[in-house]
Amino acid sequence: MGRFGSGAGAEPVVGPAGGAGAVHRVRLARHRRGAAPRRSDRRVVSGRARRNRRYRRPRDRATPRLHPQTAGGRARPRSGGAGGTGLVTLPGVTGTPRALYRFVLGYEPIRESVSIEGGDPARFLLEPVTAAAVCYDDAWVLLDSGFDTDAVRDPARRAARYNYDSYTALLPPGDPLVDQVRAAGLDWRRLSGCALSHLHLDHTGGLRLLEGGPPVLVQRAEWEFATTEADARHVYARDDYLRPGLDVRLLDGETELAPGLSTLDTRGRTPGHQSFRIGLAGRTVVLACDAADLRANITGPRACGWATDPVAARVAIRRLHELDRQPATEVWPGHDPDWWAWQEPGLYPAR
Ligand SMILES: [Zn+2]
Repeated sequence: MGRFGSGAGAEPVVGPAGGAGAVHRVRLARHRRGAAPRRSDRRVVSGRARRNRRYRRPRDRATPRLHPQTAGGRARPRSGGAGGTGLVTLPGVTGTPRALYRFVLGYEPIRESVSIEGGDPARFLLEPVTAAAVCYDDAWVLLDSGFDTDAVRDPARRAARYNYDSYTALLPPGDPLVDQVRAAGLDWRRLSGCALSHLHLDHTGGLRLLEGGPPVLVQRAEWEFATTEADARHVYARDDYLRPGLDVRLLDGETELAPGLSTLDTRGRTPGHQSFRIGLAGRTVVLACDAADLRANITGPRACGWATDPVAARVAIRRLHELDRQPATEVWPGHDPDWWAWQEPGLYPAR
């Protein structure tokens, strides 16, 4: 396919990923101008409306201006309801995932007791802030997005957001997401969508680059918590995700986002946390994200020590533990400084 999204306008071809399930709609919603979700917002965005929108990068960024997103991203999902499997067809994605690109977008000191039940509260781990690109032949999908580097570097915003207790945000020079996307050889014009595991502020900062851009996919339960209850005490920064021009779409339960890329319900750490399963040639990688900060969470299994719903978090970690025992399946922790994949950015499998 020559140009990103050249299949725009076609009804996405959908079918039950798992075979015989009943077909029904996963409702997607767009939220703009910081509005909390309302029933009237729940609509499927038409392909034409999407095609009329133009995705531009901020002028002050040394990155290419983005071309219009041309596809509808229209959802024709089906699911079995809560816990069922839906399907979203992200624009421009064809084929199967060729590789993952691993991003390390910063670091944060975290008490061991936060990352694992029974951990030492006096011991700190310098944890990487991670994200990934799922690379297809003609498109890519971003999973999580790191810190808002502008907020980290602004003294007032930094003080309000990041400097509390023993926490702070650490950044490499430059803009790590922009720089690593460039280093990976990925083209922003081919970014098909961004899925977020949850809305903690070490995952939402890159949304500042996506205003007017492709869909941002979040679980409905996460969004509703993030726009009602959550604030800095919960490590949420509403400025990150209540941005005009973000095309936020809400998922209800487990969803196939694109061929070979699906979400797993791992709620517990946060109300709508999701992990990601990526089917690569000969192997499956599961990005646990913050359902398992550390590899020890998965092998234990031992849940993270800080969760909105500890019982659900334990259910999630047992599921990840079982998945990790499946043949040719690797479950990667979200924040483990010792996990090989997060030692540095890079392609997986390496060429
Ligand atoms: Zn995190």
